[in-house]
Parts: sequence; C-alpha cells; structure tokens
Amino acid sequence: MVLDLTSLINGRNSKIDFEYTIDTGTEQNDILPPEDVSFTAPVMVKGVVTNNAGYMALALTAKIDYQSHCARCLEDISGTFILEFNRTVAVSGTLQNQDNDEYVIVKNGFLDIDREIVEYLMLEFPTKLLCKEECAGLCSKCGKNLNFGACDCPKKKEIDPRLAILQKLLEND
Ligand SMILES: [Zn+2]
Ligand SMILES: [Zn+2]
Repeated sequence: MVLDLTSLINGRNSKIDFEYTIDTGTEQNDILPPEDVSFTAPVMVKGVVTNNAGYMALALTAKIDYQSHCARCLEDISGTFILEFNRTVAVSGTLQNQDNDEYVIVKNGFLDIDREIVEYLMLEFPTKLLCKEECAGLCSKCGKNLNFGACDCPKKKEIDPRLAILQKLLEND
C-alpha cells in the first residue's frame, strides 16, 4: 500500500492508522518466500504513522503464515512469522544519507510501505525453520526421526583422547 501522508505532514492529522493485506504468490508483488517455504495466506499488515511536533514515526506489524519443513527432521511444519518494525519517517531531500536503515523516505507526501515490508521480510525471515527448538533430528545412519525415540544404531561414545590412542593400538593388533 502507498500511504498518503500529506495531512500528517501539513499537520491536519497527528496520526494515520492503516490495516490491509498484501497478496502473496502473485506476479504483481515481490513477496517471494525463501526456498522450501510457501506463504499460505495474504500478509496481514497493521500499523500507524504518527507526527509528534514534526517528528514522524512509523510502527508496523506484519503477520505471515507459512508452511515448510523442519531443517533437522524434515517433518512438515507451519506457523506464523511476525515482523515488527519502527522507523523514523523522513521527507525526501531532508536527509544527507537516504540509505540509512532507520529511516523510511516520503516522496511527494507518499510512502510505499509494501516495499519496506518486502525488504525487511527478506532480511528477517528465518533461513532455518525447526519443528521445535530441541528437535532431535534424524539419525545420520538409519534416518529414523529421533523425536519419536532412539534408534538401534550403536551410539558413539566420548573417549578420552589418550585412551583413544591406546584403543587404536589395540585395534591394530
Ligand atoms: Zn524437527
Ligand atoms: Zn539410527
């Protein structure tokens, strides 16, 4: 959505609320999920732009429903990723360095927040999704999902390095 901030800039309003959705998976927008992830619903965006005696700020929350696979055990997972950010709103031409991440730039009274959301989402969306923090993953030998219990593969034992040398000598015997 492109927000019209004219009334905020000229002081007629002190805040502008907004709430809308961005479609995903269409060719019209750039919201492309990372590999092995699909976004299952439109992105829900809610936020406010405020003007406090000339200091303008944007606060925004975006909710993104996704489906994917656990990076460790490969089980199907789904969830909601919440993207939150706050930015100072600056009028184009008033900043020396417009590439500063703390700012969003208003051009001719308008602010394209979709672009800000897409950029930040690409940066913040986790590259590794897990079914749970303590996911035990798959056995590297038999492939069993260890979240459902241990497999029968022999477990590697922690061996004292000095004993390991001794054991190697014995094995070579
Ligand atoms: Zn897992
Ligand atoms: Zn195993």
